[in-house]
Amino acid sequence: MEHTNEMELTFDSSSVNESFARVTVAAFLTRLNPTLEEVADVKTAVSEAVTNAIIHGYGEQPGKIRIHCRTKGQEIYIDVCDEGAGIADVEKAMEPLFTTRPELERSGMGFAFMEAFMDELSVDSALGKGTRVHMKKVIGEGRKAWSTQSL
Ligand code: ATP
Ligand code: MG
Repeated sequence: MEHTNEMELTFDSSSVNESFARVTVAAFLTRLNPTLEEVADVKTAVSEAVTNAIIHGYGEQPGKIRIHCRTKGQEIYIDVCDEGAGIADVEKAMEPLFTTRPELERSGMGFAFMEAFMDELSVDSALGKGTRVHMKKVIGEGRKAWSTQSL
């Protein structure tokens, strides 16, 4: 049986909590012995998802954001959930450069970054109900490929 570990974090939708959220996930990840680059990737992805929940999910309204993290062997699964506005067209929202808030100088690259820095990304959303961003990353894949190559 592979070792599993789980944690859940709920916090107010406020930009002051964005760095707290990404640092907490990074701390949880430490057990998997990630490289600095892997830590940076996960922090960026969490930061993008949390920022989206704050800005697009809740806007100026108060609300709670929940992060659920689970590790299984060298895999980390991260869910970032809000009960905010929801997304009308998830497929379109995930296209690079698509944004509904150009006036806020958003570049529409959040989902593209999550996709690039993580191994899996899926988004469930319902208008008026909220959004769940699900991500997975395997920690240590690069090192494994390298050590096999050098045999
Ligand atoms: P950037 O992340 O580059 O600042 P952005 O946030 O607009 O810009 P994405 O993060 O890729 O770009 O998100 C694309 C669009 O998906 C957003 O403009 C928004 O309409 C929608 N969206 C993303 N996350 C949520 C969410 N949690 N709740 C509601 N809508 C969301
Ligand atoms: Mg974004």
